Amino acid sequence: MQTWEEELQAFRRRTKKSARAWEAAKRRIPSGVNSNYRLVDPYPLYIRKSRGSRIWDADGNEYLDFNMGFGALVAGHSHPILAKAMKDRVSNGTIFGYESVEMPSLADHMARRFRVDRLKFSMTGLDGTLFAVRLARAVTGRRRILKFEGCYHGSHDALMVSIKPRKEVSGDPKAPNPVPSSKGLLKELLETAIVAPFNDLDATETLVLSHADDVAGIIVEPVPMNMGYVQPKPGFLEGLRSIADEVGAILIFDEVKTCGKWYGGAEEAFHVRPDIKVLGKSIAGGFPLAAVGGKASLLDQVVPGEISHAGTFNANPVSITAGLVTLTKILTRTGMRHAQQIGTDLAKGYRDIVEDHGLPAKVPFGGISGTLHFARADVTDWRSFQNVDVGQWWAYYLAMQNRGIIPMATGPDEQWTTSVAHSKADLSRHLDAFEEVAEGMKKGHAKMSIVEAV
Ligand code: PLP
Repeated sequence: MQTWEEELQAFRRRTKKSARAWEAAKRRIPSGVNSNYRLVDPYPLYIRKSRGSRIWDADGNEYLDFNMGFGALVAGHSHPILAKAMKDRVSNGTIFGYESVEMPSLADHMARRFRVDRLKFSMTGLDGTLFAVRLARAVTGRRRILKFEGCYHGSHDALMVSIKPRKEVSGDPKAPNPVPSSKGLLKELLETAIVAPFNDLDATETLVLSHADDVAGIIVEPVPMNMGYVQPKPGFLEGLRSIADEVGAILIFDEVKTCGKWYGGAEEAFHVRPDIKVLGKSIAGGFPLAAVGGKASLLDQVVPGEISHAGTFNANPVSITAGLVTLTKILTRTGMRHAQQIGTDLAKGYRDIVEDHGLPAKVPFGGISGTLHFARADVTDWRSFQNVDVGQWWAYYLAMQNRGIIPMATGPDEQWTTSVAHSKADLSRHLDAFEEVAEGMKKGHAKMSIVEAV
């Protein structure tokens, strides 16, 4: 890799149309993006098309994509089976204002696959966790929700707390302050949040017990994937199950990301069953679909006049067909095994290169995802994530793009996703590019000092 300035110049030279598209977008769209996480330095890529494992930007540059729509594309871009089914679907109705005949088949498949009794469909992860919180409050008659520092559950007020809090305002690591992640949040919402350190069972138990009668739910990403990739310590998820049971709180696994990482989601990997699972992202091959699933005793209470659940686009036929085709024809056990093999080989390749070049970095991984943490010690929670050299990561990201690889989703707090569409040749190209970039990093070429754009 060249020096940071040379890489930046190269990026600007090859992405002139993206720069122009960004200027045009900013005239009407503040920051030029419609999800704050897409804003990056020097400007975001604007994309023309994608297929399989590849994506093409406004200038026609081709990239091997390991962002995969922030994990939504385990089926790859426009999988031919899905594309064909969706052409037919779109020609025969896109929304009915009634349930579609295919919906019960998808519900049945998902209930078996993700081991839940009942489900309710909606559109986004945000919808799902919002409803899960309402459900937990409704069935317990309590107010407080415990969440973990550094975990993200979608952009809605109840959970916009301590997502990426700055050290100076975070307080005691054992009892973190609830820090608002946006302006505009009511202080009452912050008062009903309890924030705990991930992977610290004792601290979590103490916090829960101090509000025992008022904890409606504990929500957690079973593998936090908004601080890169954080392994739950052995016994941590089991411990959360026991703590929730001890105080009668609802345990919610936010599986918006993890449900796509193993065939049956996190339960298949960690053997812990929460009361409620929120599923999303990858389940419909790139179309919007989410679901809240769980025990019959809880979900059966969601009836008109009792607990509200509604949405014009909920379970629309486009999303339902996409979900059914994706889960039953593409993300089969065989499909998932392929994506996992590529993911495992990618992580091993990264580990070898990191070791060979003596880079101060860690490569945690599992399922089809992993990340590159520029840190000397393992990241186990939000506080240790703050030791990650994010400037180094952004330099790596830019240099990889200049070599035709989008190595993972946008940000040092993200991870790569491998898909059924990635091949061994894609894997080799990715690792060759990383080898070259790592070589440059060893020489100290890359160091970028920007503020993370969130
Ligand atoms: N939960 C987790 C763990 C996520 O990572 C995300 C999004 O990245 C969400 C919920 C929100 O999902 P969506 O962006 O579909 O609203």
